[in-house]
Amino acid sequence: MKRILVTGGAGFLGSHLIDRLLEQGHEIVCVDNLLTGSLKNIEHVVDAITFIQHDITEPLPELGMFDDIYNLACPASPVHYQANPIHTFKTSILGVLQLLELAKKYGARILQASTSEVYGDPIVHPQPEEYWGHVNPIGIRSCYDEGKRGAETLLFDYARMYDVPIKVVRIFNTYGPRMDARDGRVVSNFIVQSLQDKPLTVYGDGQQTRSFCYVDDLIEGFLRMMESPKEVTGPINLGNPDEFTMLELAEKVMKWTQNTTELKFLPLPEDDPKQRKPVIDEAKRLLNWSPKVRLDEGIQKTVQYFKDRS
Ligand code: NAD
Ligand code: UDP
Repeated sequence: MKRILVTGGAGFLGSHLIDRLLEQGHEIVCVDNLLTGSLKNIEHVVDAITFIQHDITEPLPELGMFDDIYNLACPASPVHYQANPIHTFKTSILGVLQLLELAKKYGARILQASTSEVYGDPIVHPQPEEYWGHVNPIGIRSCYDEGKRGAETLLFDYARMYDVPIKVVRIFNTYGPRMDARDGRVVSNFIVQSLQDKPLTVYGDGQQTRSFCYVDDLIEGFLRMMESPKEVTGPINLGNPDEFTMLELAEKVMKWTQNTTELKFLPLPEDDPKQRKPVIDEAKRLLNWSPKVRLDEGIQKTVQYFKDRS
């Protein structure tokens, strides 16, 4: 049994991660400020974990030792991370700095939830890990993209200077049950809109692409990454390489909600990446990981989740 810290554990991905870690019998401390997460996501395990409501931009309280740290704390949806961009940037940079100090103190392994956004609006397609990206440093997405890039820098400098065992995963768009209905991400927006007989809001012409990974696949990747040999630091792409346009996604959502609604075309947000698809050869080779859940199956399950809640 290990003692494990999960920051952002009351969020979408963090709550699924906690479920899996509890199944394995570990002791879990969850630190979350509930900015975009919710106690509802962890109410079924609240007696089995230690929950601390705290903002990781502020000095951490005394938490004791940890074997492993998963750093997931950060708003992930453009709507939320742009609401207070300075706080988002601080969350990535000041947050990871404190956690790296903790990892250094206790010799803990630290896994960072990085993102495909480090590739920005990519010119290289699909994106392998060695691509350095095409990021606007001063745009409205920069607080998130550059924050995550800066966090990666800090992780690798702590590994080089202090031999901290680091694990960096670059997550591509992930979806599934416990996404927040008001989160603003495309999968939750389309499903909720379709179930409510509202038009699906397509930004731009809907020809931009994303590659959607089902949450269970992603969490399996996290666990394999943490358990990989020390020299496997990443960054490693975790995502599903099946690529879809937003119009194709809209069709799939309507197929599984069995509700055909109109499309409402709205302006494309500034700096919105035109295409995104991971190369996952490294995850296959080093972690023996590849996603199993096809988009149809995952959307069906996610639709069911939102139906059960309505
Ligand atoms: P989420 O918004 O559901 O979860 C983030 C959690 O972090 C929330 O519970 C929130 O309250 C908490 N949080 C935010 N700022 C905090 C702070 N300053 N201090 C303490 N807690 C804070 O998002 P998610 O989809 O679960 O994303 C989890 C992580 O994975 C994030 O770091 C995100 O950047 C990364 N990620 C997610 C995706 C995706 O598609 N879901 C893609 C790439 C990267
Ligand atoms: N998008 C859309 N309608 C929505 C929400 C998003 O067409 O209601 C588009 C958005 O412009 C982007 C893609 O869907 O091109 C994915 O957006 P999301 O916010 O889910 O993730 P990210 O942009 O961070 O990849």
